[in-house]
Amino acid sequence: MLRLDDLLEAVAAYNPDADFDLIKKAYVFAAKAHEGQKRRSGEPFLTHPLAAALLLAKMRLDVASIVAALLHDTVEDTGVTLEEVERLFGNEIRQLVDGVTKLGKIKFTTSEERQAENFRKMIMAMAQDIRVILIKLADRVHNMRTLDSMSETKQAEIAQESMDIYAPIANRLGIQEFKVEMEDLALKFLKPEFYRMIDEQVSERKEKREKYITSVKEMMTRAMRENSVPCEVTGRLKHYFSIHRKMESQNIPFDEVHDLIAFRILVDTLPQCYEALGIIHSLWRPIPGRFKDYIAMPKANNYQSLHTTVIGPEGERVEFQIRTREMHEIAEHGIAAHWKYKEGKLAGETKDEMKFRWIRRLLEWQSELKDPAEFLDTVKLDLFADDVYVFTPKGELKELPRGSTPIDFAYAVHTEVGNACVGARVNGKIVPLSYKLHSGDSVEILTRKDMRPNRDWLQFVKTSKAKAKVRQFLKLEEHTQSKQVGWELLEQACQKHGLSPTKLLKEPAVLKYAKENGFKEEESLLSAMGYGKILPEDLLGFVLPKGELKPKESVKETTLSRLARKIARRTLGQVKVSGVSDMLISFGKCCNPVPGDAITGYVTRGKGVSVHVHDCSKLLSTDPDRRIFVEWDASAPISRIAKIKVVCADRPGMLQAMTEAITSQGVNIAQATARTTEEHNAVNTFDVEITGVEQLRHVLKSLERVKGIISVERVRS
Ligand code: MN
Repeated sequence: MLRLDDLLEAVAAYNPDADFDLIKKAYVFAAKAHEGQKRRSGEPFLTHPLAAALLLAKMRLDVASIVAALLHDTVEDTGVTLEEVERLFGNEIRQLVDGVTKLGKIKFTTSEERQAENFRKMIMAMAQDIRVILIKLADRVHNMRTLDSMSETKQAEIAQESMDIYAPIANRLGIQEFKVEMEDLALKFLKPEFYRMIDEQVSERKEKREKYITSVKEMMTRAMRENSVPCEVTGRLKHYFSIHRKMESQNIPFDEVHDLIAFRILVDTLPQCYEALGIIHSLWRPIPGRFKDYIAMPKANNYQSLHTTVIGPEGERVEFQIRTREMHEIAEHGIAAHWKYKEGKLAGETKDEMKFRWIRRLLEWQSELKDPAEFLDTVKLDLFADDVYVFTPKGELKELPRGSTPIDFAYAVHTEVGNACVGARVNGKIVPLSYKLHSGDSVEILTRKDMRPNRDWLQFVKTSKAKAKVRQFLKLEEHTQSKQVGWELLEQACQKHGLSPTKLLKEPAVLKYAKENGFKEEESLLSAMGYGKILPEDLLGFVLPKGELKPKESVKETTLSRLARKIARRTLGQVKVSGVSDMLISFGKCCNPVPGDAITGYVTRGKGVSVHVHDCSKLLSTDPDRRIFVEWDASAPISRIAKIKVVCADRPGMLQAMTEAITSQGVNIAQATARTTEEHNAVNTFDVEITGVEQLRHVLKSLERVKGIISVERVRS
């Protein structure tokens, strides 16, 4: 069983001047608080915080972290209060204990939305003090080690959560030790048969494997000594989870997993890494494509190492990882390796700022993303993606998640560059904007000042930054447009009463009206008017004293205007304006679009957005700046009147035949007219009620089949 002395020794090994009294005091305090409590395994509860503290001491963390780890369950599980912790151990430790307690309450097994919200909380906690998450990870690792005594449901729940959330975070923070242990333990509980199978296979070959490891080690050490490169060689079986992943991803049995064993060579200096690599390659033939230089190009979590796979002494594949001891420390302990135990803060903050890049990035974007599900989406993206490394034309290195496109690159350079991106050249060649970047690509972004982000980009951009920035831009644009529509509606209403909209908006009552209707300021009120959520008349009625709302002309609603309003109401929700479905819209009479037509919107003066067929000549003569993207709302199907012109021989029975041809398609005729030409032909027009272009096409086809028909066409006006 663990003892306090083990912990004190571990701390003394790297920090002889540590405040041992404080650690002892925390230990005694925790012992008293947890007195009589037992873990489910039957052990005294105190072993748990002690084990967590020891894990952190192995990572050489500062005294505050060690003390907080000892106290981490006291507030949650005993009568101890945070005030008490602060009084006895100071504010810093109180903050840490508080952070860990709060994190402990976050569950990731709930609904997607809650999960997203919880994830956000965790990121916030990490950003405030990274030590909180380090303590939480140590807590989780020890809980995973002692998971055996929990109920099966609890085992599965905790294992899954560790696999989904904590192992990826450990990986992102570069703490391989924690990541590997959590993954292996999670596998044990999530896929017990699989785990047992690997375990059996592995122990069967244990003797043979150890012999093999010893012989390779000896060969390697000798060769290194002959070249005067001092080194330390270790060989080990790859961890179970990575064996499992290999079997799954390549769909192969255990026997066919080749490089089960990996050797690690630790040297003193960076040049020796490359020397060692040369020595290995002179002993055994390297496998092409398997050499990776993470020293020249460190991973996002700052992992540095040389990897190579060679055909080993027995004709088998074997992997070597070569790094300096310093790199090794970072590989195992990641961000924790940078935690200077003496000063209680990161060494050389500016230089190490990059270590926090990931968290900073998340924070920056989470403030822009209001929707928790969206946030989770983007965070997962960052957490699980591998990276590619590409270059700017000036040779500057940019790191992007795998699958990133030139647009992601553009936004990584600068938001302005992303917003103005029109094209990209990769290694000198023009590529589509959806092109997936490869490591080593040199990327040049072509920009144009008047260019704007395109909604379609969201389909293929990969980074959360690009996603967030494009969404932000589109939202802003939508808002501007709805405000413009709102302003015009208001202007029109004011004109009717001989009022100035500018003056009206200065009335203090406007703000009052806005607040009463749940809007922060006049601007959002205008925007709501544009969306048709608020009628300008209602605002006028509220702002102006009774009786003052005297119309210049008669406001008596004509039948026509009433009808127009009815139609306007009815048309709400049939067309989405810039992806928004409840904007006030009308259809152009000039081109009379029906569902399925390619359409474009035009921001009118006072009538909301008018929708036209995209090549309508009237639309094309309008101000391009006022045109906006609209699309049919498939979730709100409607029927529209389309006009059909049919020329036929003027003879008896034709009208009936045509009517039958139309109604046989299940289509109503709203109106029909006919006239005779000098050539003894009849020109008929039918207004038919259709649900879309597809149905219209059937009607036209059906008409064409009628004997005596000369021509059939859809007319736009
Ligand atoms: Mn705990």
